[in-house]
Amino acid sequence: MRYLESVITLEFDAARCNGCAMCVAVCPHAVFRLESKRAVLADRGACMECGACARNCEPGAIRVRSGVGCAAGILAGVVAGTEPTCGCSTTPTGGC
Ligand code: SF4
Ligand code: SF4
Repeated sequence: MRYLESVITLEFDAARCNGCAMCVAVCPHAVFRLESKRAVLADRGACMECGACARNCEPGAIRVRSGVGCAAGILAGVVAGTEPTCGCSTTPTGGC
């Protein structure tokens, strides 16, 4: 499931990034990748707004209004008759 990119609340301030790679490690949808020792948005449209990246970004380079994405992912699974998950529970931080 993907959101409409225009409504995704994910904001990334590259100037604050220290290249720690935590966002790459915790994102269940590979939204970030490292490039020249700094994070870049690789696939912003894949963001489910779980908030794991922002919670683990020590310099505060990432902002996202979390919570809605997980609920939407779970509801989509129920409606589609598939596993009701947003996918963030596979992150090292445990997700939602
Ligand atoms: S967690 Fe924050 S500081 Fe670390 S690489 Fe990602 S954006 Fe940069
Ligand atoms: S909010 Fe979740 S899905 Fe979106 S970029 Fe951050 S870790 Fe990835």
